[in-house]
Order: sequence, then C-alpha cells, then structure tokens
Amino acid sequence: MAFKVNVERDKCNGCEECLEACTVGMFRMTDGKAAPLAERECMGCETCKSVCDEEAITITDTRVALSATCMSLLAALDDEETAYEPQGRRADGR
Ligand code: SF4
Ligand code: SF4
Repeated sequence: MAFKVNVERDKCNGCEECLEACTVGMFRMTDGKAAPLAERECMGCETCKSVCDEEAITITDTRVALSATCMSLLAALDDEETAYEPQGRRADGR
C-alpha cells in the first residue's frame, strides 16, 4: 500500500463524511466511528482529510523516497527518451 490511512477514534464524531467522499471505499463505521479497511488501496488524494472537520484523518505516504542522485538519473533518462528519433526517421528529416 502506497498510502497509510489512520483515523484518530477520539476525534471522530461519526459524521460519515469520509465514507461518502472516498471513491475507493476506504472507510466503514465501527461503533459509531470511521475506520480504514486494510484490504482497500488508498490513492493518497486526501479528499477524506479535507472533508473531516474534526481533523481525525491522517494520510501517510509510505512510498520509498528516491535520493537526489536517483532523481537526476531518472530525469537524464527521460531527456534521452524524449530526444530519441525512431529508426528510419532522421532529425534532419531525411
Ligand atoms: S469525516 Fe472525520 S469525523 Fe466524520 S466520520 Fe470521517 S473520520 Fe469521523
Ligand atoms: S486519501 Fe483519497 S483514496 Fe485515500 S482514503 Fe482518503 S479519500 Fe480515500
């Protein structure tokens, strides 16, 4: 899972706004409080967080952070692919 969803039960007032807002159906109600479902995949859109007036929801990005070196290498590769001309078609049009 790329994003971890947490609901602070003490803060949750059971309004169910997050259930309606989440397009992947991440939440269900248990004992009058919202709870994230482990089997659902969060997209990290933070819509649930924005509709929660109690600020009970936190979304944590659990993806591995790439180093600056990795990012610059990926950018260089991307530039090379952009500059690539398919065989049989030269950059000068011949
Ligand atoms: S929007 Fe917030 S307060 Fe409302 S049910 Fe969801 S977590 Fe609880
Ligand atoms: S961040 Fe988006 S996908 Fe994830 S639980 Fe909230 S509304 Fe659903």
